[in-house]
Amino acid sequence: MKSRRRYLDLGLLPVLLIVTALVSLTAGEIRAASETADKPTTGNRESTVLITGANRGIGLALANHFHQQGFAVIGTARKPDEALALKATGVEILQLDITDPASVASLKSELQGRPLDILLNNAGIGGHSTPELKDLDIERLKDTFDVNSLGALRVIQALIPNMRMGTRRIVASMSSRMGSIEQNTGGAIGYRASKSALNSINKSLSSEFSKEDFVFVVLHPGWVRTDMTNERATYSTDESAQQLFKVITALSTRDNGRFYDLHGKSIAW
Ligand code: NAP
Repeated sequence: MKSRRRYLDLGLLPVLLIVTALVSLTAGEIRAASETADKPTTGNRESTVLITGANRGIGLALANHFHQQGFAVIGTARKPDEALALKATGVEILQLDITDPASVASLKSELQGRPLDILLNNAGIGGHSTPELKDLDIERLKDTFDVNSLGALRVIQALIPNMRMGTRRIVASMSSRMGSIEQNTGGAIGYRASKSALNSINKSLSSEFSKEDFVFVVLHPGWVRTDMTNERATYSTDESAQQLFKVITALSTRDNGRFYDLHGKSIAW
């Protein structure tokens, strides 16, 4: 009986060893899965995103969020020395005034040979506006168009070679629901028109670059509490950035040429 028991013990030993190994392997897998579950799956430091106007407002929150989610972030600012909040996020900072061709050219040469995966044209201004047409200083609207429409176009033209070297080829430009012609309820005539022009630029480029698998989109960030708006606005910059992040990182070539809000819902042109 004793020897039979020892025989049984010895016979079970390999089985026990295998079971133990399997259990610890499975536990290891579960542990690994739960550890990675909290980690970003949508990006890593090898994916680079460039965000214009990243020193404050929505651009700053986007820079911070992309950085936290593991992207390599280049945030641009007109005055990098004064971009203290952006510096505090730990991202790379480059100088850029999107209305200044020399500044755009110097960004281009600074970034020569570096792949960019996502370009976020966020910089924008509210610009001059009056309640009534009779008071409007039309010459001042040139600035609004220079920043909101032509500014993004300058940056895109300069950085297309970098985007070609990237893997995602996403160009997202911050438009506004106010740029929708269909949903135009009046007011802010220059701002609205400048965002409509940006939407049109986006559509043109989405056609020109579709054969290279680029994804050009225009986005509405929601009504967000920044220097451009007021405290009554719906979203904090962090809330808007978190939603925009989800939309941007989920983009594919199927989305090329589209106009989305921060929840990924299409907006009428
Ligand atoms: P914001 O707080 O006023 O920030 C605007 C950013 O754009 C700043 O970083 C500013 O830099 C930069 N900028 C302005 N002119 C520039 C230029 N010539 N060159 C480079 N950067 C320039 O505005 P925001 O609310 O965050 O808006 C960000 C974007 O979202 C804009 O395109 C805006 O039209 C759009 N948007 C906002 C809302 C909203 O509810 N807030 C709604 C719809 C769309 P400086 O600090 O140097 O001026």
